[in-house]
Amino acid sequence: MASTRRKVLKVITGGVGLLATAAASGATWMSLKSRDKPIGFGVVDDEPAAGKLPPTKQCGAQPPTLAQTAGPFYTPDTPHRANLREPGMKGQPLSIEGRVLTTDCEPVTGAVVDVWSCDADGVYDNEGYTLRGHVFTDADGHYRIETIRPRHYGGGGFVRTPHIHVKVHGQGTRLLTTQLYFPREPRNKNDSIFDKSLLMRTKTDGDGSLKGRFDFVLESVA
Ligand code: FE
Repeated sequence: MASTRRKVLKVITGGVGLLATAAASGATWMSLKSRDKPIGFGVVDDEPAAGKLPPTKQCGAQPPTLAQTAGPFYTPDTPHRANLREPGMKGQPLSIEGRVLTTDCEPVTGAVVDVWSCDADGVYDNEGYTLRGHVFTDADGHYRIETIRPRHYGGGGFVRTPHIHVKVHGQGTRLLTTQLYFPREPRNKNDSIFDKSLLMRTKTDGDGSLKGRFDFVLESVA
């Protein structure tokens, strides 16, 4: 891929019409505090989402991805970056990639994929943006983000199995807030929020890193 990254400024609106005009540089992530609010505009990351894992499912008419709670640890206005890992950061490297599609299986170009999780000790950074960031889908609806496999957290009868929080929104689609899960994780069965439809496909590479794949399906809005 050429070193230059083609960036296409797109205006993304919610159900209430045009939110804002494009700024001269970079992406702006508007505050996102409810699933019904518009979320701003972004820059399409026109980079290939090279992956060895197959798509989550074959295309065709399909139901929207299940929505789940954002939980108490969402922070708006995250950095626009594909790599959330930092030098020396503890934890198994994890890449997540896939596509953002409509229920009619059309790719959603320029959709925002905003990701956050706790760290390998089960702790969220609620002061800054550690393990928080967003990317935009390319012309085929692909996204890719680099992070680490988060730890479980909770106690005293409240268990959160390892999960990745995500908000996904495209032009003309309803904002999706949900969570992604890991297959073969024994704590899944003890987490009342867990849903198997949100399991990533994963594989471990020879270097010990984990690759996850998940395709999001968004509802279109009139
Ligand atoms: Fe969480």
